[in-house]
Amino acid sequence: MDLKALIREIPDFPRPGVSFKDITTLMKDRAALAYVVRSLADHFRGAGIQTVVGVESRGYVLGAPLAYELGTGFVLIRKPGKLPAATIRVEYDLEYGKDALEIHRDALQRGERVLLVDDLLATGGTMSAAARLVRELEAETVGFGFLIELTFLGGRERLKSMGFSDSQIVT
Ligand code: IMP
Repeated sequence: MDLKALIREIPDFPRPGVSFKDITTLMKDRAALAYVVRSLADHFRGAGIQTVVGVESRGYVLGAPLAYELGTGFVLIRKPGKLPAATIRVEYDLEYGKDALEIHRDALQRGERVLLVDDLLATGGTMSAAARLVRELEAETVGFGFLIELTFLGGRERLKSMGFSDSQIVT
């Protein structure tokens, strides 16, 4: 299936010089959505995934149906101040400034086998922060699932520098 044709590129969004990959057009297409979710599920079926963890917010769009397909529960990683119970937080660097992500302290158990999901891998800053949260809770990131990888931004290398391998990173 030609997924690329269903992804809309918005020039100069959110700022000049950036070509934003808009996946809303792909998500609207029922065949494409089913194909993407099933492909990722097929890859990780049999990997003993216990929980899918999605990164706010487009990671939820992929992650929740993926959890359903894999027969697991779903956990949310959110931007600061959104989760209601006790959380842990990691900060990460953006091109300009810093951002942070949070997860509920009791969301994952020690040794729990986790699949981390987001829509897009760019520099890997977001996903490496998410992986740090999983690590801090002593759960195990078994793999990463993305819809898009912008290879020229080096996110894969960044995740590999944390000790993950190519076979764990699926796009
Ligand atoms: P990274 O932290 O540089 O890897 O950027 C990935 C994060 O930024 C993901 O959460 C994406 O949702 C978001 N992102 C960055 N660029 C784009 C884009 O072109 N389209 C959609 N999301 C993007």
